[in-house]
Amino acid sequence: MIEGFFNCSIMARAQKKGIAEIHIHNLRDYTTDKYRRVDDYPFGGCAGMVMKIEPIARCISALKEERHYDEIIFTTPDGEQFDQPMANTLSMKENLMILCGHFKGIDYRIREHFITKEISIGDYVLTGGELAAAVITDSIVRIIPGVISDEQSALSDSFQDNLLAPPVYTRPAEYNGWKVPDILLSGHEAKIREWEFQQSLERTQKLRPDLLKDK
Ligand code: SAH
Repeated sequence: MIEGFFNCSIMARAQKKGIAEIHIHNLRDYTTDKYRRVDDYPFGGCAGMVMKIEPIARCISALKEERHYDEIIFTTPDGEQFDQPMANTLSMKENLMILCGHFKGIDYRIREHFITKEISIGDYVLTGGELAAAVITDSIVRIIPGVISDEQSALSDSFQDNLLAPPVYTRPAEYNGWKVPDILLSGHEAKIREWEFQQSLERTQKLRPDLLKDK
């Protein structure tokens, strides 16, 4: 499901350049039964299936033997809400492991004994953690220096500095009578930066006033 995602576009380029290494591990490879079962019925008789402890414990233990992990992350709707500051912090780590749940979730003992950080990508429920892991990885990798061509570009994105990004334009300067703001064509670097900052501030005040309250 996510192999294709990581083999495309900027994520693929980051790996080719040797800036990031992304490995996907199939928990079924860590089963010992003939059916390669990773799920079982929940104790207590509630609906749905739960991911078994043994394949996950075996996988995490095997990977931990190979290298030190700064965080072993579990993707879960009841985790800490993922945001840009968290992406920035995680992007400075060396090795991260992200565990994806499925079905009703994973045996809680894994969370108690192996997981160091629990992350939610939003207040909604997905069928599995793969998309959450892809979202988290993408946002972490794209801010590692050298991944996107212009490093400044990541720093001027929304949420860095708790501000939304200013509007951006490219050629043609006029389309259908719709003009690009004059200031951007003026060549006056300092005034352009000031305009961009004002735009960021205004857009944040209008669209996300909650971001300014945090400051
Ligand atoms: N029963 C769980 C939801 C299970 S959804 C509950 O009510 O909390 C199945 C799996 O999808 C989860 O184990 C988790 O890994 C992933 N997942 C679903 N929604 C997610 C979200 N908002 N953020 C991160 N992971 C999520």
